[in-house]
Amino acid sequence: MIIPIEKGAENKILRTQSKPIKARGKKFIKFLRDMEETMYDANGVGIAAPQVGVNDHVALALIDNKTVIPLINAEIIEASEAMVLGEEGCLSLPGLWGKVKRHKEVTVKMENLKGEEVILKFTGFNARVMQHEIDHLNAKLYIDRAEPGTVKEA
Ligand SMILES: [Zn+2]
Repeated sequence: MIIPIEKGAENKILRTQSKPIKARGKKFIKFLRDMEETMYDANGVGIAAPQVGVNDHVALALIDNKTVIPLINAEIIEASEAMVLGEEGCLSLPGLWGKVKRHKEVTVKMENLKGEEVILKFTGFNARVMQHEIDHLNAKLYIDRAEPGTVKEA
């Protein structure tokens, strides 16, 4: 269940820095499965733990519109200078869309389910999803970055 926030309203959990993930037991796997279900139910391409009311540093991202990867303790370690302007929405801000400039390419450091470090590079729309989801883990929303006057109801 996603906690929607009203236009312009502030949701405390969405505005809190998420804490690093340590546990990777059955409960955590179940949490990821539940988040995945919520994401698909809402036709999203990504979802972050704060969106389901938990300030843990984990999100899911749908890559190439087919593979869901868990972003555990994920951070952007490199970003291209080149930026791309694109339309963005958020499951926590239903019905709103805005134009946001994002890095065209990002390199993300994260951990897999075994706790091993993984470094992956993303481009284009995948890079946009990464930036949006990792922002959630750092208490940021796309409306903070949107070009002035572009956030509108669809
Ligand atoms: Zn979002």
